[in-house]
Amino acid sequence: MQKATVTRTGIFDMQVCVPKDWTDERIEGFAGTSGTSGGWRMRQDGDPALSGDPARQPCDEHPGFVHVMLDAACSTVGS
Ligand SMILES: [Zn+2]
Repeated sequence: MQKATVTRTGIFDMQVCVPKDWTDERIEGFAGTSGTSGGWRMRQDGDPALSGDPARQPCDEHPGFVHVMLDAACSTVGS
């Protein structure tokens, strides 16, 4: 079975490929194991940085998986 993976990493953002039934908390927890120590926050629908894309993009390669962008928690203000 396909496992959750990190598909792209940067200093201030990253993208992961995870099962679509994962909660936001679980996705952020997964991201936290593979990036900076500051933690990661899921980009939510309506975030200008998504440029109109949904927060959870269906994965082209793995049915039942979604791609999610996260921002380093230290680079965002508030919740
Ligand atoms: Zn994927």
